[in-house]
Amino acid sequence: MATQKQLIDDALSSGSFPGLPQGHFIDGAYSAAASGRVMNSLDPGRGEAFAEFACGDAADVDAAVTSARRAFEAVWRDTPAVERGRILYRAAALIREQAASLAVVECLDSGKPIGEAQGDVQGAARAFEYYAGACDKLQGDTFPLGPAYLGYSLHEPVGVAAQIIPWNFPISTAARGIAPALAAGCAVVAKPAEQTPFTALRLAEILLEAGLPAGVCNVVTGTGADAGAPLAAHGEVDHITFTGSVASGTAVMKAAADNVTRVVLELGGKSPVVVLGDCDREAALDGVMGAIFENAGQICSAGSRLIVERSLHDGFVEELCRRAEKLTLGHGLRNPQLGPVNSAEQLARISGFMERARERGVEVATGGAETADPQTGKGWFFQPTIVGVPGRDDELVQEEIFGPVLTVQVAEDADHALALANDSQYALVAGIYTGSFTLAHRLAQRLDAGQVYINEYFAGGIEVPFGGNKKSGFGREKGLEGLLSYCRTKSVAARI
Ligand code: ADP
Repeated sequence: MATQKQLIDDALSSGSFPGLPQGHFIDGAYSAAASGRVMNSLDPGRGEAFAEFACGDAADVDAAVTSARRAFEAVWRDTPAVERGRILYRAAALIREQAASLAVVECLDSGKPIGEAQGDVQGAARAFEYYAGACDKLQGDTFPLGPAYLGYSLHEPVGVAAQIIPWNFPISTAARGIAPALAAGCAVVAKPAEQTPFTALRLAEILLEAGLPAGVCNVVTGTGADAGAPLAAHGEVDHITFTGSVASGTAVMKAAADNVTRVVLELGGKSPVVVLGDCDREAALDGVMGAIFENAGQICSAGSRLIVERSLHDGFVEELCRRAEKLTLGHGLRNPQLGPVNSAEQLARISGFMERARERGVEVATGGAETADPQTGKGWFFQPTIVGVPGRDDELVQEEIFGPVLTVQVAEDADHALALANDSQYALVAGIYTGSFTLAHRLAQRLDAGQVYINEYFAGGIEVPFGGNKKSGFGREKGLEGLLSYCRTKSVAARI
């Protein structure tokens, strides 16, 4: 097997990757789109096409859902939990065996630095391992109805679970949805983002190799309009997990409503990082840098609003700017500290925010412009950017930019910081840096967020439920709560 270094060197010199999946993955095999159409996948580090994939539509979605329904009813829902667990464990092991090539494919498709892609692949393996262990612990309750009755509950699989996946964390979002769905006994139809189709396809192939029966996990590629919308509207889909923008999530929820299909929505964020005067300054500096510049800020839970106590503000922001200016930029395969953004559209969107900010007279502390890979002059890059914010209603503070742009607000004290932090239409995550245990947990109680990170941004793992409040969505993925969203409770009460 080729080493990671060989794979990276070959991909850098050839601009592509051999043996990429061809077609949708339906009923255990690759198949071309019914229409015969294909689309290009683009390498953000170069801004050029590197491969083609199937451009699916309603006919392909219907074939995948039909396959999933058949496999669910014929095999998977009755496969013993312990056997489901063994298959998921084997999948985790195979992901780890193939980690080097998966990471290179993820890097080419998404643009992210290879080190981050490697972390995501390990995270995907971990998701399968975690839910493998949960399969045979999914047990119901008994109800105390008295001696003349027997009452108990069953966690039944919901049925066919659709996964609509974004481009910023392709393999990890696919894994965190597919693994619990399979663990619960559901069959899956996944629709990766049109910018990043390949690792979801590879995952479906790995699951087949691990022993998953054909048809239990299907993947249809294509655009949101052509393939995502018919999947969300399909009458034979019983559950939809959607991760993406508020606008697309709203469309998915409306389509689901027509069939009374359940949905879990993980949408946008504009997450605050509250840094108080008594914090460990180094830890806070590292945390704030990672919170906004990891994956070039293209993370729904990115810490994009720094709220820093006045006593710490001046030197702290200066140091952040100094560090931001020193970040290395480049093609993801060269493992820079900051990779490209995912698409030309995304780059234009970020630039639009900064151009409008300049027109309003907003002062940019550092960055604020498009740039390119210094080695090749190519790719869709945006400078690491820090902006002191004029007012809490400014669009830079209120809108999700989804790029390497950090806004800075100054708080007089912890209560003021809390008020600023909660002043958002989004409520996905919130970070706190403080040396006070009591204050940290008091703030954690009052922050409006699905999850709170204390003294380490992005703390936690697959064990910890994840999801949002307000316009960040509802429902929880990850953890045992994520598993339960693929189950429906059946209560049985009998007179005996
Ligand atoms: P972004 O705007 O950041 O590209 P989207 O929310 O549009 O994010 O995309 C997330 C996922 O949702 C992608 O797989 C995309 O193809 C899909 N998608 C987009 N629009 C719809 C829709 N109307 N119905 C179903 N899926 C959609």
